[in-house]
Amino acid sequence: MVHCINSQLEDTMIRTFKYPLYPTKNQVVKLNHLLATQCELYNAVLEERIGLYKWNKKSVSYFDQCKTLSQLKEVRPDITQYGITVNRGTLQRLDRAFKSFYRRCKTGQKAGFPRFKSLSRWDSVEYMDKSGWTIKEPEKRIKLLGIGDIKVKFTRKLKGLPKNIVIKKVNDKKWYISIVCTDITPEILPQTKNEVGIDLGVVNQVTLSNGTLIEGQRLLQKSQDKLTYHSQKLAKCKKGSNRRKKVKQNLSTVHRKITNQRKDFNHKISRELINNFDLIVHEDLNIKNMSKSNKGTVDNPGINRQQKKGLNRSILDAGWSQLLQFMYYKAEEADRTIIAVNPQYTSQKCSQCKYISKQNRTTQNKFKCIQCGYLENADINAANNILEAGRALQDRTDLSVLECVGSN
Ligand SMILES: [Zn+2]
Repeated sequence: MVHCINSQLEDTMIRTFKYPLYPTKNQVVKLNHLLATQCELYNAVLEERIGLYKWNKKSVSYFDQCKTLSQLKEVRPDITQYGITVNRGTLQRLDRAFKSFYRRCKTGQKAGFPRFKSLSRWDSVEYMDKSGWTIKEPEKRIKLLGIGDIKVKFTRKLKGLPKNIVIKKVNDKKWYISIVCTDITPEILPQTKNEVGIDLGVVNQVTLSNGTLIEGQRLLQKSQDKLTYHSQKLAKCKKGSNRRKKVKQNLSTVHRKITNQRKDFNHKISRELINNFDLIVHEDLNIKNMSKSNKGTVDNPGINRQQKKGLNRSILDAGWSQLLQFMYYKAEEADRTIIAVNPQYTSQKCSQCKYISKQNRTTQNKFKCIQCGYLENADINAANNILEAGRALQDRTDLSVLECVGSN
């Protein structure tokens, strides 16, 4: 399976930029009211769809429901005061829920009917077109209709043309804005004539075929231990108790910290790789994980350890797929090539004489070829095999006619 990026200049790129918001106390009251009105609207239009179907066997479309919005202006100005765009966003959200419900029905999957939402779980609103909001980057503000100018921290430069936005409340106290931008122009980097294979390890590190080991992911270990600690504590708390509420809050704080640390790490590593290499080859994580989960069921080292292992594992996997995701979009911007290869045998094959044997890998990190005696760090040996597999694929396939999968 090959993923490649050979983007053409005329391609328009789309990116999402996420920034923290710092609303005033007064604005927080309004933002919460905005969430409440949209939650109410969602439930009302859901009820409308259910009712019409039940009593008249009629289905209502998104456009039908949009028409009723104008009547709403007279009866419920409190809902429409934030502009038509945000109301439409809520209607679209319901429409998406129905569409995916029908899709799941069609394909015979387990299909849950769209449900009424409780306000405690309703944490975001969407503006799906360009009215009702204005970005004022120089003033570090975003203007929302009916709310005012909210302070934004632009942690990185906004690029392209802002198309739509989502406002989200996290943990009942923090607010964020996600801005989807189109028409981003690629910033092509000069050729480096360097190529690299990367091994994404279980021991929290990225290994490059040139021998570089990147251990940044180890920083996460401490937070991961905390995460395990708090989740075990949560399991022991009584449902509905104050204690449970507190532990839950701690848990989500740790979660957020991990998310941020990982994101920083992955941004840094992906930037470095893209700047320094024209071709980057990695293992296809989908294939890799499939073989891993098969193995997991065979050796079962007791429930608790298994749980902990599973938790760490999933955090790690999420980290690697994020790293790849960042790499792919940066590659697109910089016109670099990334190839995913089948990870089979990459750890058992000698990168020198190509001899494949399980016995080549004596320990977790030592590789010693029983054919030619080649001795190397196991991950570096694997990274070299990965690079070679990628080059072979590149030679075999004319990348220009290959159907590009794009960023995954
Ligand atoms: Zn060998």
